[in-house]
Amino acid sequence: MTITRILIANRGEIALRIHRAAHEMGIETVAVHSTADADAMHVRLADHAVCIGPPAAADSYLNIANIISAAEVSHADAIHPGYGFLSENAKFAEIVEAHDIKWIGPKPEHIRTMGDKVEAKRTAGKLGLPLVPGSDGAVSEVSEARKIAAEIGYPVIIKAASGGGGRGMKVCESEDQLETLMQQAGSEAKAAFGDATVYIEKYLGNPRHIEFQVFGDGEGNAIHLGERDCSLQRRHQKVLEEAPSPVITHEERMRMGEVCSKAMRDMAYRGAGTIEFLWENGEFYFIEMNTRLQVEHPVTEAITGVDLVREQIRIAAGHPLSVKQEELEFKGHAIECRINAEDPFTFAPSPGKITHYHPAGGMHVRVDSGLYAGYSIPPYYDSMIAKLIVYGRNREGCMMRLKRALEEMVVEGVKTSIPLHQALLEQDDVKSGDYTIKWLEEWLKERDG
Ligand code: ADP
Repeated sequence: MTITRILIANRGEIALRIHRAAHEMGIETVAVHSTADADAMHVRLADHAVCIGPPAAADSYLNIANIISAAEVSHADAIHPGYGFLSENAKFAEIVEAHDIKWIGPKPEHIRTMGDKVEAKRTAGKLGLPLVPGSDGAVSEVSEARKIAAEIGYPVIIKAASGGGGRGMKVCESEDQLETLMQQAGSEAKAAFGDATVYIEKYLGNPRHIEFQVFGDGEGNAIHLGERDCSLQRRHQKVLEEAPSPVITHEERMRMGEVCSKAMRDMAYRGAGTIEFLWENGEFYFIEMNTRLQVEHPVTEAITGVDLVREQIRIAAGHPLSVKQEELEFKGHAIECRINAEDPFTFAPSPGKITHYHPAGGMHVRVDSGLYAGYSIPPYYDSMIAKLIVYGRNREGCMMRLKRALEEMVVEGVKTSIPLHQALLEQDDVKSGDYTIKWLEEWLKERDG
């Protein structure tokens, strides 16, 4: 079984990332693009390109019929979905496989299970992952919700079963708010995801977000590649990620990593996955599993030396994992800054034309981006325009190098979040790694106040 031509069903930096891995393996690439992306870097670099529709994502990057047609006319024998868009769409994965095209991703049934958060939590519990205390499945009656909340204690969080991207969650402080918030959560979930199902869990006051990277070969072998700390968040969106986490010992990493990889062995998981936990007072609590490559995967690549996209392609082609758990070494420290085209402190989007561009460089500095001078950032898609990933022998060295790299980075013509990252690196709590998922929003509030 070989793969000779991969269609990349995505855009921006991740399309480039996949193209690079493919070319390093001697595999051709097919870019697909909307009319708004005709001049994008991923289209320029790929061996072939097919236009799949107008700017709106629903008509192009989410248009399954057009993407499958593009794969057929270009004779692609595999599809890589990247992250976002169709990457966690089990139906799409099934359609790809039904067309005899290799799906570079997990088995469709695993995408489906983990995509339903209630099902995911139930499965995680069965597989031995520690859970946030809460309802056993969906909750539809207020009386039932009252009972569960009283048992686990307030505050509780009401979450949408079909939620994603940090949306559809309500924190409830006391019993008298429960009925109203449950109704609100249900109707908001219905509007956003077409599914009003909600569930309840204990609201953790001040946790960190720590996630484990896992990989399975689909035959019952699986490894973990350690954790990433993604606690610096705004509105539940990650801003800066690092590996390893400043609060985890190597023993904890290997113990929790083994819990995760055992779970993946038991389900015969295939491909890349991320198991997300909240971490408080030394305890891990499963929140969800993402059945795809993550935006922040490069920090794991930096400290392990494993090319995760290459690994995904190998597994889809039927090869075994290229590394064994005991061969993996975790070395040094890596930090990723997500650079968005937006105001650094108000976060208002700032699409437009790039007049000057100079990416940072030097030892252990990686910039994943489709930017070039003269490029116009279209207003239709996500605002992330670049990722700056820096490695150092230890956390302090990594932060010094990151500071230097941010100074070098020039993106002119639009506002970017570079000044936000520069300001963050000056904060004592960031320097010492002493932050939780609440930290960034509190700091922003103080700054404005
Ligand atoms: P989504 O799929 O929308 O990203 P998650 O379940 O991954 O939803 O949660 C996203 C974020 O919401 C977490 O990183 C955390 O900041 C917050 N969160 C989720 N569940 C809880 C909880 N039980 N207690 C406190 N915060 C939570």
